[in-house]
Amino acid sequence: MLPFNGKCDLHIHSNASDGTWTPEKIVSIAKEKGVELISLTDHDEISNVETCKEICRQNRLKFLSGVEISSTFNGEGIHILGFGIDIQNHEFNEFIKINRMKLEHKDTEAIKGLIERGYKLSLEEYEKYTFDTQRGGWKALNYLIDYEICKDVNDFFEKLSKNENILEFPIFPSPEEVVKIVEKAGGVPVLAHPYYSKCDEAVEKRLSQFVELGIEGVECFHPNHSRIISEECANWCRKNNLIITCGSDSHGDFIKTRCIGKPEVDISLLNLADLKKYIN
Ligand SMILES: [Zn+2]
Ligand SMILES: [Zn+2]
Repeated sequence: MLPFNGKCDLHIHSNASDGTWTPEKIVSIAKEKGVELISLTDHDEISNVETCKEICRQNRLKFLSGVEISSTFNGEGIHILGFGIDIQNHEFNEFIKINRMKLEHKDTEAIKGLIERGYKLSLEEYEKYTFDTQRGGWKALNYLIDYEICKDVNDFFEKLSKNENILEFPIFPSPEEVVKIVEKAGGVPVLAHPYYSKCDEAVEKRLSQFVELGIEGVECFHPNHSRIISEECANWCRKNNLIITCGSDSHGDFIKTRCIGKPEVDISLLNLADLKKYIN
């Protein structure tokens, strides 16, 4: 176990999911910002983890392997961070592959929906379409931008969800299933940004239901959390001896308001506990 007392960011996306930056760029920005420990947590994707770990090693930056797994709880989309998983674990890889397929299927169905509504698009062309992953986002978004149907990501959701009502989010595995697979792959499940969207549920009620399902920690500090909510979450976790993490949820230039190293949280407010075992 390495002692760690520096600045950390345990929630970063690369171009392996919907971020714009490569691991090289992420590491160089992290160094520039004085961040000493990072975790790469792409959505249901681990293909950049090994590369990022190696680049961190070369740059004397501490690294924690990670992934952000899509889950559904009582109809709500929930994200669970899996830290320290064995990325070679076959069952785990199959699990996240199914999540990725669900996301791809949702987008294909949305394109079909647009065609049915008279948009001049071709499903065949969409299936063959590829894009430079450093643009960020995902296939359907980039395709619709290139075909001038959407201007940007906000326009994408506006058009597909609000105007056309054709973007149906898939039902992902339950938090229990995610907890189980993360632990099977030797990792630690941590609930990501519990107050990402507006939620009036009290901290105790909101967090305890996930702890009952096996969650071992909470990302208390996230750009979408107010200072008050962050502190309340951290206090509750401290009382219940849970892991406390912080993350910027940076997507590179795809979401310009989220920057690596922000929120800047004093290490004394975190509780990395067992996660320290996995830091390289
Ligand atoms: Zn998330
Ligand atoms: Zn994220």
